[in-house]
Amino acid sequence: MVNEKKKYPKLPLTSKEKNLLALVDTHEEEITQLLQKLVQIESLNFSEFQFWDNSAIFKFTKEFLDKEGFTTELFKAPFTNSKKNEFYYNLLASLDSSSKGKTLQFNGHLDIVPYNEDNWDSNTPPLGGVIKDGKLFGRGSIDMKAGIACQVMAMKLLKESGEKFNGKLQMWFTPDEETHGAYGSAFMTKNHFEAINADATIVSEPSIRHPMKSPNIGIGEKGPHWLKFTFHGVAGHGSWPRKKSNAINKATNFMVNARKKLKFPKQKPPVTKWQSIRQLISRVGISGFRELRKFQPPKLPLDKDKRDNGILYRTTFSFNDIKAGIKTNIIPDRCELDVDFRAMPGLTTQELFDSLVRYCSKIKYRIELPEGYSNLQHNDSKFKDEPVDVYLTILTIGEGSATDPNSEFGKVVQNAFTAVYETSPVFSYNTGFSDAGNMVEAGMKDIFVFGPGGRNAHNANEYADLSTMKDTTKLYLLIAYRYLNS
Ligand SMILES: [Zn+2]
Repeated sequence: MVNEKKKYPKLPLTSKEKNLLALVDTHEEEITQLLQKLVQIESLNFSEFQFWDNSAIFKFTKEFLDKEGFTTELFKAPFTNSKKNEFYYNLLASLDSSSKGKTLQFNGHLDIVPYNEDNWDSNTPPLGGVIKDGKLFGRGSIDMKAGIACQVMAMKLLKESGEKFNGKLQMWFTPDEETHGAYGSAFMTKNHFEAINADATIVSEPSIRHPMKSPNIGIGEKGPHWLKFTFHGVAGHGSWPRKKSNAINKATNFMVNARKKLKFPKQKPPVTKWQSIRQLISRVGISGFRELRKFQPPKLPLDKDKRDNGILYRTTFSFNDIKAGIKTNIIPDRCELDVDFRAMPGLTTQELFDSLVRYCSKIKYRIELPEGYSNLQHNDSKFKDEPVDVYLTILTIGEGSATDPNSEFGKVVQNAFTAVYETSPVFSYNTGFSDAGNMVEAGMKDIFVFGPGGRNAHNANEYADLSTMKDTTKLYLLIAYRYLNS
């Protein structure tokens, strides 16, 4: 077991704050009940290309907040791939002090990823919200209805307490974070920027990593670049192989060589490896740190990979979808390969494309980029008259993001964290994306990502660890109280 080291807070709780946070203790049951209701309302999001009505959960949440006396507003984002009147909701709920001040925003996504009920334990079905051994099971429980329940309760308790504050506390609920936010964070930042551009935002994605008991504070994430490579070759009779012009072989050659020859410019991560190690050691001590390093999730029999922590510190790619071929005896002249690139914060899309073009030049492929990007091969006489081997198209892109942990708001977060958990904060940044990426890209400042704990997000038997929710709610509440009084 890893024990977290006690740290005396720089700004300990005042007696007023103690009373405020004690409200969370008396409402713990209510936080769980809210989470249970949210989990029992199906709010799937399959794909950004297929509409799935998840309005029920928005209506429920709006009604809940209306009853509590918040000002709410639904925004409609029309679904572009259909002629019917289909749209996704975004919901904004606010608590205005009516005195001048800053705006703090809470944010969470109400959508969930699909599930295969057959893989779930029959006692804890995906939409059941069953509570067992201090865990609440269900799809979306930890990703991320638990964080939402904590933030909603923090808002409600700030209101109920009657404590004075300035400015405004608001919460923004999005419908499609799991497919990168075309109708949520991207839609709102493009079409209703004034409504959601707060002075600071906390996204309540889960961030308590087993075996820790307090959240990592997320200050950045990699930029997803989901790209389709369409390789063109020459068809023919399968009895007469074409080693280099078979489109599958072209794609294979591209994949095999990429491991050694595809290089991206290095970027300094928002949290370096050494900073992470130092922060962890100040949290758990050297022996605890050694324990943490030993901790490995159970390994599957077919897993031949070693754990690679270096993934955090470089731009990565994974070949995840491939389609080609018509018939066993026909050489394919076309092969489509979808690749998931995760760009380090600081690496621009153009720089990533430049790397891909350089790599294609190395393996002697002519590549065409999507419109609007400059292509290094266009100045290369070697490729001028060559036919195009591979076309690149964009499935979805977002650049990486990073937030300064030592901003004015960052200091409020750090001090509140230490006051609630009595241990020192650990900053992290994520390989995956959240709605924060679209917010940073739109120019919003001070976006932090942290929330409660649980396991099996996007997997069978997903659960929220109920024992983490009370303190997470306290943290949100204390940050709101302190920031809106600063
Ligand atoms: Zn999530």
